[in-house]
Amino acid sequence: MPHHEPSKRFLVVIDPGHGGGDTGAISKDKGVTYTEKDLTLLLARDLARELIIRGNNVILTRNEDKNIPLSDRTALANKLKANVFISLHFNSSAEKITSGGSEVFILNHATDETSKRLADLENAVLKESSANENGGSSNVSLIMKDLILEANLEPSRKIACAVQSHLKVGKKDRGVKQALFYVLLGTDMPSILIEVGFLNANLDREKVLNTKSRFRMVAQIANGLEDYKFKRTPTKCRVQNENQFQRADEPKRGHRKI
Ligand SMILES: [Zn+2]
Repeated sequence: MPHHEPSKRFLVVIDPGHGGGDTGAISKDKGVTYTEKDLTLLLARDLARELIIRGNNVILTRNEDKNIPLSDRTALANKLKANVFISLHFNSSAEKITSGGSEVFILNHATDETSKRLADLENAVLKESSANENGGSSNVSLIMKDLILEANLEPSRKIACAVQSHLKVGKKDRGVKQALFYVLLGTDMPSILIEVGFLNANLDREKVLNTKSRFRMVAQIANGLEDYKFKRTPTKCRVQNENQFQRADEPKRGHRKI
């Protein structure tokens, strides 16, 4: 067995989506109000514990009901040089459903249409940061950022495919998708965003609220991460881009997507 020094342990930064005044999605059922921000934190804490038990280091971007800017969440992961960044979210749909299922997103910056939007945004962000920090050449930073995003695309895909292959939330496998999520854009390491289930779907919600099934869910996510860590990721995995998955079917999202 190879020895790992504690400092060289695999570090996972878990980002419980939303917080504080930013509730994320809201669902009311039988007089009870459920918020996305509460469920992401509930799940994140258990996922953290599970990953620590399995020998990983874990840092949460928030461990209280507080709104933290997305750029601070990713800056923390970058500063700590995390191996993986996982942002947890819940879907919600306008129509009534009982079971929605999970889907895992990775950052899409590959298509012409999205790369244009991304470039505009990167320019704006970099102008801001280079003005603040050293006033250095933003062209160099932009090239570096592109190289980092490019290098992280394949590992992110592997993690997303592995996690989605283990995660059993609804009857439907919603798959792995690419989209421009602001929170994924800021990280310098392989990153995924899990839409764990639908907040307004009773069966999905119960899976998170019930302690036993929540433990099963975090074990499934941890199994996916271990597949990546130990290079057992599935070879066959279709990643849908925004043109391929039905936008009309997509629910209104509580979180920020470019
Ligand atoms: Zn969200």
